[in-house]
Amino acid sequence: MDRKVLDVDLDGVCADYTRAMADWLIRQGRLPAGRYPVPTTYEMTEADGWPFPDAADWLAAHTAAETDRLYARMPVIQGAPEALRELDRAGVDIRIVTHRLFVPGHHRLVVADTAQWLDDHDIPYRSLCFTGLKDSMHADLHLDDAPDIIMALRAAGEPTCVFDQPYNHDAPGLRIRRWDKEGVETLLRLLGV
Ligand SMILES: [Mg+2]
Repeated sequence: MDRKVLDVDLDGVCADYTRAMADWLIRQGRLPAGRYPVPTTYEMTEADGWPFPDAADWLAAHTAAETDRLYARMPVIQGAPEALRELDRAGVDIRIVTHRLFVPGHHRLVVADTAQWLDDHDIPYRSLCFTGLKDSMHADLHLDDAPDIIMALRAAGEPTCVFDQPYNHDAPGLRIRRWDKEGVETLLRLLGV
């Protein structure tokens, strides 16, 4: 049987990066307890309630959070593991595609923590790809949350579905709102399974 290939992003799709960074900042005393900014832009900026004056400050915090095992411990986005197992059972090849290797010297940590997190949540996948060049890959369907990546994939002619987040509401076209029955059915229909 020909299995369809679904490229699935991690942060903002399966893993709750926003929540994980907010929790880390609360532990550092840089956000008040219980303050979870609503991310209305993809970049984490002060305007959205994050304590980052500029991109360099965000990167420094992100780098420290990686060292504190951010990627091993981050919460899942509700329903993602169950939905991915259902897609796998339905005959879909899940290829995890993530742009996480951008801190020099952290690659072993990031790759290991990512694989551990996927195992811990029993997420089925056939390939694990670390690349920011997602539009260089061909799949039957891509699922992503980042507006610039969605645009690049569509410009490359790749079938792309948006995973709904507050910062991507301007992205047109196909989208699923959450990992529920309707979301899984939509993905299966788009894949032609
Ligand atoms: Mg993402």
